[in-house]
Amino acid sequence: DLHPIRRALLSVSDKTGLIDLGRALSERGVELLSTGGSAKALRDAGLDVRDVADVTGFPEMMDGRVKTLHPAVHGGLLALRDNAEHQAAMEAHGIGAIDLLVVNLYPFEATVAAGAGYNDCIENIDIGGPAMIRAAAKNHAFVNVVVDVEDYEPLLGELRDNDGATTLAFRQTLAQTAYARTAAYDAAVSTWMASAIDAPAPRRRAVAGTLAQTLRYGENPHQSAAFYTDGSDRPGVATALQLQGKALSYNNINDTDAAFELVSEFDPKDGPAVAIIKHANPCGVARGATMAEAYTRAFACDQTSAFGGIIALNGELDAETAEAITGIFTEVVIAPSATEDAKALFSAKKNLRLLTTGGLADPTARAQTIRQVAGGYLMQDKDNGRIGLDDLQVVTKLAPTDEQLQDLLFAWTVAKHVKSNAIVYARDGQTVGVGAGQMSRLDSALIAATKAQRMADALGLDGSLAKGAAVASDAFFPFADGLLEAAAAGASCVIQPGGSMRDDEVIAAADEAGLAMVFTGMRHFRH
Ligand code: 5GP
Repeated sequence: DLHPIRRALLSVSDKTGLIDLGRALSERGVELLSTGGSAKALRDAGLDVRDVADVTGFPEMMDGRVKTLHPAVHGGLLALRDNAEHQAAMEAHGIGAIDLLVVNLYPFEATVAAGAGYNDCIENIDIGGPAMIRAAAKNHAFVNVVVDVEDYEPLLGELRDNDGATTLAFRQTLAQTAYARTAAYDAAVSTWMASAIDAPAPRRRAVAGTLAQTLRYGENPHQSAAFYTDGSDRPGVATALQLQGKALSYNNINDTDAAFELVSEFDPKDGPAVAIIKHANPCGVARGATMAEAYTRAFACDQTSAFGGIIALNGELDAETAEAITGIFTEVVIAPSATEDAKALFSAKKNLRLLTTGGLADPTARAQTIRQVAGGYLMQDKDNGRIGLDDLQVVTKLAPTDEQLQDLLFAWTVAKHVKSNAIVYARDGQTVGVGAGQMSRLDSALIAATKAQRMADALGLDGSLAKGAAVASDAFFPFADGLLEAAAAGASCVIQPGGSMRDDEVIAAADEAGLAMVFTGMRHFRH
């Protein structure tokens, strides 16, 4: 199953490594064919190249839409070398065999990511490239197809090892990669179109990804796992630079994403903010006058749970904050950037992973989330809903003060990132109790109140920190009991969507308890 490479067609948009590859192939006596820009680059480097236009007898035309779409090319890729009829057809029509195809496609994904307009995106849909890739991959019994720059070296290694030929196993691997590339490419086109034409539920969906990392295991050691990127280039865990520490685990990636998405809600213009996450739920979120103070305040909320946590910052990691963070064991720190001093401080902590993202995520950006169910998947818009002061409706006799309004919005923003049922107590830009993931809202309220008491105990304070705090509920209180629990714990004001059949009952209970309450009209379930 060894087949020698005698003739290659090179047609690449990304010219990285092209010259070196072309030269190495030339030196092996491989004849080079190429399209316009690629041929020029090779020729400029002094290599002997034949234009595809010369092979097809047609010039490249229609702005490059038609370059290689011709039997002289596709016949050369698809002909079975061990089939007499195929060989006769090649002979009759003067078609030469192509043993190696090197193609990387028009940069469609990058064009979309750069925010290009509709027509620009359309022009960047490669037609001839995928056609050739699919043809070459089908005929992998004889033909090699390379679609990634990182496969140039392995190809040359294979040729060295096999005296200018490749093995079937090698060609099969290339073909599998090639089909994943064309599938991902068309998935990107289709996904872009769905949003460009604003089709919320297209009849067909294609989802694809590029392997970023094989993971040691999944949520548990008996589950295998891998991490794939979707090419969308958003600041976040998928695109972050890891400066130190061992490879991220499945759970690390999930939690780091939750931490960074949450902290990105806090505009750095309003000052530093820090979020500490465990099992995808915040165990402390706070603002501060400095980043270090924001961290210390976030940490204070639940010092027990913060151990082995994931920390996200909405601004640069400085030395003072880094020093404070090294006080306990932390799995991951993610921030837009880090000072040299902070990096130096962390470098002594070999197990601490540091990631920089170059910026914050845009919490209002449109995106899709996917959840697998048996036999399919659920797809929805990411929860990018945000409310401001103007959206709040005061429903109680008592109206919140300006300070209370700030705390209410803060608690609400955190609650959006807490698994339902979510109850969050906050005061002075600091969470003081988080109740997450309970099956009843009352239980979440009880847990949040318990945590507020525990925080006070840990800080050696009298009474619970829920006293005078703002409390947020991610969905309406179906009964007054959850609200009454918050009142009993000492909360002074409440923020919740409203919309329950028993809103009147809940509002009356709030009035009775002397609470100020606002409705948001927006729910933030998170499951
Ligand atoms: P070059 O820079 O060599 O002029 O163009 C290389 C690019 O053209 C590659 O990305 C390749 O996939 C693409 N390409 C090759 N043949 C065709 C074709 O017939 N139609 C279109 N639209 N693109 C092609």
